[in-house]
Amino acid sequence: MKNTIKAIALFSGGLDSRLAAILVARQGIKIVCYHFRTGFEHEKNAEQKLKEMKAFCEDRNLSYREIPLREEALRVVCSPRFGHGRYLNPCVDCKILMLQKTKERMEREGASFVVTGEVLGQRPKSQHGPSLSTIERESGLEGMLLRPLSARKFPPTIPEKKGWVDRELLCDFSGRTRKPQMELARELGVENYPPPAGGCLLTDPRYSHRLRDLFEHPPFDMQDIELLKFGRHFRLSSRAKLVVARHQEENERLLQLKKSDDRVFFPVSRKGPLGIGRGAFDPGTEELASRIIIRYSKFPDTKALVIMEKAGGEKREFPVDSPSNQLLESLRI
Ligand code: SF4
Repeated sequence: MKNTIKAIALFSGGLDSRLAAILVARQGIKIVCYHFRTGFEHEKNAEQKLKEMKAFCEDRNLSYREIPLREEALRVVCSPRFGHGRYLNPCVDCKILMLQKTKERMEREGASFVVTGEVLGQRPKSQHGPSLSTIERESGLEGMLLRPLSARKFPPTIPEKKGWVDRELLCDFSGRTRKPQMELARELGVENYPPPAGGCLLTDPRYSHRLRDLFEHPPFDMQDIELLKFGRHFRLSSRAKLVVARHQEENERLLQLKKSDDRVFFPVSRKGPLGIGRGAFDPGTEELASRIIIRYSKFPDTKALVIMEKAGGEKREFPVDSPSNQLLESLRI
């Protein structure tokens, strides 16, 4: 009977979610790991991280699925019922959303309960007792949500009461220290796990600042959100912004993310990055954008020519010098 029981585990790929999935899997429960793609993941080594997660699941005989959640995640970031965390991370709403999506798929998966790597008291806003109760209630998973790392701190859940899972083999971790998880990782042979909270850009102050700026200057779409991950960002007016690449690879990335009515700025006769101008520009903002491009070119202290190109063959030249550091910083997002 026990071998037929299946559970879905929320799987961020971080240490806690890995441990939670293993703790339940080693009791003979078939685990399907759900990795939600919110669109707010760090871009750096993203493909590599996904490969590592898949490999981890394969090695441990866990099924692995990636579930897209971009539009819905953006909606909760814009207006979370339970507020944002320290930055623009709406963790309580985000968890509820992921669990609701998981619940919708339980029948299709043949899963009887859900597993998460949450630890009581680990995060001040989203993992203290009342928040964990809210998450369970609002997701509609009351009694069916097992948190193996803190299970013995909570009343028994349905899988424990029914004897599918032995409560005594689960943990009673709480608080912010990660030492017990690290010890458990050693015991379970879990290695090379990512640092805590490293995967979500919504917990990054610089990214949150850029996102807030976008919210304050609607309209915007998923392409605008994606662009926030790359380059240096400058707000030139309430309707115009400039994004300047930081290296060659980003030049290419910005061109991929360019919209049909964006402007492209680049220096001539010297090396330097290109910039994407998005929004409504006038001659003043075009010149300002050109000056910022020179600031990041090979010889920023001397005047040079910047070309602005737009779809339809529109093209203008700006012989400009760099803006002062003070001006530059006042525009930086
Ligand atoms: S850290 Fe990011 S992905 Fe994780 S719950 Fe919070 S908002 Fe969602």
